[in-house]
Amino acid sequence: MCCEKDGEFYASHFGRSNLCYGFYGCRGKHRKLAFFSEGVLMNPMYRQAHFLQSGAKLADLPMHAGREVAFAGRSNAGKSSAINALTGQQSLARTSKTPGRTQLINLFEVNDQAILVDLPGYGFAKVSVAVKTAWQHNMADYLSRRGNLRGVILLMDVRHPLTEHDQQMLSWCRGAGLAVHCLLTKADKLNRGAAGNALLQVRKALTTLHPNASVQLFSALKKTGIGEVHAVLDSWFGFASA
Ligand code: GDP
Repeated sequence: MCCEKDGEFYASHFGRSNLCYGFYGCRGKHRKLAFFSEGVLMNPMYRQAHFLQSGAKLADLPMHAGREVAFAGRSNAGKSSAINALTGQQSLARTSKTPGRTQLINLFEVNDQAILVDLPGYGFAKVSVAVKTAWQHNMADYLSRRGNLRGVILLMDVRHPLTEHDQQMLSWCRGAGLAVHCLLTKADKLNRGAAGNALLQVRKALTTLHPNASVQLFSALKKTGIGEVHAVLDSWFGFASA
């Protein structure tokens, strides 16, 4: 907590890495500078993310040598808001909301080693059986056969976690041997006690649904939990923690 000691700044250490993302007042032996996005310290790497390509199914996606991390969740879970918050951008994930692209797999390149993948939202009430069947087929195919997929960030509204489709997603990931990190989104909608209880309950349920999955609270609105997610992404992408 070196920066806190200096009193000019409230930043400190992020997640598992020992990097100090604080600066101005910090007189500690820290090397890496970060930047602010609406008052939140960000790992600058993710700010570089830009739209790369879309595809309807696995066969349409480009081959590349980097690693992918996929973002999954039901429609309205807060996936676009989370991707924007994690990349410090206002409208990166708007790409995924462009008519015609909502059911596509959208790739965002951080650098040539790291690609963020926005999977189509699910839980759609008004779509046909054929669309749902195609979604199931395409998701199962992508998750089980995408060789450079390193892990899945599963987003669930903190007030309605572990829907049937969320459990389906966890089951596919477990079957494919994929790491999963769950975000309980919109955590600002609950008070601290209720959010903590939701976290405990989901953590408990995961011990049977996907024993290796981790979970955290997240709010794109309040910009809370970003450092924790970046630490997971850094680890999956193999970014050096210096
Ligand atoms: P997506 O369909 O999963 O991409 O969800 P969006 O990111 O579009 O968010 C759906 C709705 O939830 C929008 O009205 C957002 O403004 C709202 N939302 C997203 N994240 C948060 C959050 O952290 N807190 C609150 N209170 N609302 C949020």
